[in-house]
Amino acid sequence: MSTSYQDTSAIFGGVKSPSEGFPSNCIDHVPIAIYTCDKNGFITSYNRAAATLWGKEPVIGKDMWSGSWKIFTPEGNPISLASSPMAKALQEKVSVTGEEIIVERPDGVRRNILPHPVPVFDSFGELTGAVNTLLDITEQKQVEEKQGRLAAIVESSDDVIISKTLQGVITSWNQAAEKLFGYTEQEAVRMNIRMLIPPERIAEEDLIISKVSVGEKVDHFETVRVTKHGKRVPLSLTVSAVKDKNGKIIGASKIARDISERKLSEEKLREHSENLEILNSIGKAISEDLDTQSILQKVTDSTTRLMGAEFGAFFYNTVNENSESYVLYTLSGAPKEAFEEFGMPRNSAVFHTTFSGEGVLRSDDIKKDPRYGKNPPFYGMPKGHLPVVSYLAIPVIAKDGTVIGGLFFGHSQPAKFTDDHEKLLVGVVSQAAIALENAKLLDEVQKLNSKKDEFIGLASHELKTPVTSIKGYLQILQKSLLNEGTYNAFIVKALQQTAKLSNLISDLLDISKIEAGKLPFMFSSFNIVSLTEEILEMMRHESKTHSIEFNSIDSYIEVYADRNRIEQVIINLISNAMKYSPQANRVIVSVRKSNERITFAVQDFGIGIKPEYLDRIFTRFYRVDDLASHISGLGIGLYISHEIINRHKGRMWVESSPGKGSTFYFEIPEKIQEN
Ligand code: ADP
Repeated sequence: MSTSYQDTSAIFGGVKSPSEGFPSNCIDHVPIAIYTCDKNGFITSYNRAAATLWGKEPVIGKDMWSGSWKIFTPEGNPISLASSPMAKALQEKVSVTGEEIIVERPDGVRRNILPHPVPVFDSFGELTGAVNTLLDITEQKQVEEKQGRLAAIVESSDDVIISKTLQGVITSWNQAAEKLFGYTEQEAVRMNIRMLIPPERIAEEDLIISKVSVGEKVDHFETVRVTKHGKRVPLSLTVSAVKDKNGKIIGASKIARDISERKLSEEKLREHSENLEILNSIGKAISEDLDTQSILQKVTDSTTRLMGAEFGAFFYNTVNENSESYVLYTLSGAPKEAFEEFGMPRNSAVFHTTFSGEGVLRSDDIKKDPRYGKNPPFYGMPKGHLPVVSYLAIPVIAKDGTVIGGLFFGHSQPAKFTDDHEKLLVGVVSQAAIALENAKLLDEVQKLNSKKDEFIGLASHELKTPVTSIKGYLQILQKSLLNEGTYNAFIVKALQQTAKLSNLISDLLDISKIEAGKLPFMFSSFNIVSLTEEILEMMRHESKTHSIEFNSIDSYIEVYADRNRIEQVIINLISNAMKYSPQANRVIVSVRKSNERITFAVQDFGIGIKPEYLDRIFTRFYRVDDLASHISGLGIGLYISHEIINRHKGRMWVESSPGKGSTFYFEIPEKIQEN
């Protein structure tokens, strides 16, 4: 496209140089740089804007083609003035358009120029020169460049960058958006952003738009969006307002970051710490527990959770009192009925692997295992049984290598159990095996213990009969030898020893009754002051070494209790007081009532008890192992007394200082509420 003028005077009005003067109201003041050259390229005229653009005044008739100091291609390569667009227009006698150049001023400033040299011909068609307009496009170039840079950044960004109108219509869509959501730019632009929002979150868009419309920024908003293929992706959104040049909000730009990976690692981390917590609590729970059934249940429940299984079962081989082996089992995630139809798991080929201790069996789909479905009567799972697809089983092996059981997990979906699950399980199961062995040991100890109690009960019963008859015969003898002084004294001694023996046997019997929970009680109302007086009367009579003082403000304190058992406690405390104070000669007994409770105290001035033994002397068979050890006893009197007081809903305690003496107390309610 070229435009030519027949005569330069058509525009310049015949004026050939500034010295001759452009009409000052015309060309010289137009804001576009214009200059002319003659046909040889010598500059013949130029206006103000041209001189400003060049940064210097060209010398008319001397400077050629351009008033510029230096010119360059847009890429910055120097161009000789003889190859400038003006030179080309004169040489080729055509207008040159669209050839951008850069001019450099003497001060070094560069401007982007779009020249438009047009050759001028006279009326004979002879070239007379050319007129060139220079359009300064520097600012426009800068804006374009900036926009280009921005567009390139947006395009190449790893983050999804989308812009939309306030109505939600998508106006731009970068490559990352295409990659993440699966829609191309053509598909997405002009569609509504709502196509990416899952139905249950559709209200979010209104919320975002309402914030953006008032200029608020929505920062790092974590949400979920849907791709073209229906996949849900977790995203972090930052949405800001887009304003026009007047500052009016016309839309929103949205930067979305795919946080699936982060969410995944957060999830993994959460899972790991949860697993660690479960492992810790399993370890703690089972190491504190010594009851087999409860360990089995805890292990089953926690490992089922840990494995993410739908069902879990623990089959544990054990032996009953008659030495018959049987299987205990606990379940998690399924009712017992779900297993009832099932035969003994040992019989199935799949389970056999575990019970024979072959190691972990993990299958993404157990139904595809060659061992599955081999056994009658069900050939697989019985009808209506749990729908196990994913399968994980591990043998539980004792320290000596025997398989003591197996843990089994199932899930109705395939491939639910992983390597990590397997590793976790191995750890838990070895802990469980130890805990189960401990429980078994305790069980054995308890069984032996109850055998021993049974024996004591039986032995004391057997002893009681002959002692009772000896006592009877001695009493007859005593009566018939009433006047035979010496013999009589022997018989009195023999009777005293028999009474002691009889008391001991009674105590032993009581022990076995307490252990069996069968110590009988007979409650009635009586006056504890007179009971004490009766006891003291008898004991004073028997004791040659100690005087027993009795303090009671009241002469009548009624209690509702087992008279014989309370008597037994009082006698035990006073006997101990005398027995463990061989150097002393006093024992003080006192009783008082306050707030419907009776407190009874027996004080001695004997060997006392060191603080570290104080809470142990009430336990079965416990005897303090120092000063008291040469004083005979079985360590059961205080245990029985303590039990008796407990059964009266009371309490028993002691205050003591070694070498000075002890005071034993018991306190019972005035009237025990029988249940
Ligand atoms: P026993 O007297 O037959 O050993 P007890 O159960 O009556 O059994 O007492 C348990 C232990 O408590 C005694 O062996 C003794 O060490 C200590 N004990 C009991 N009473 C006293 C007391 N009054 N003073 C010092 N130690 C006592």
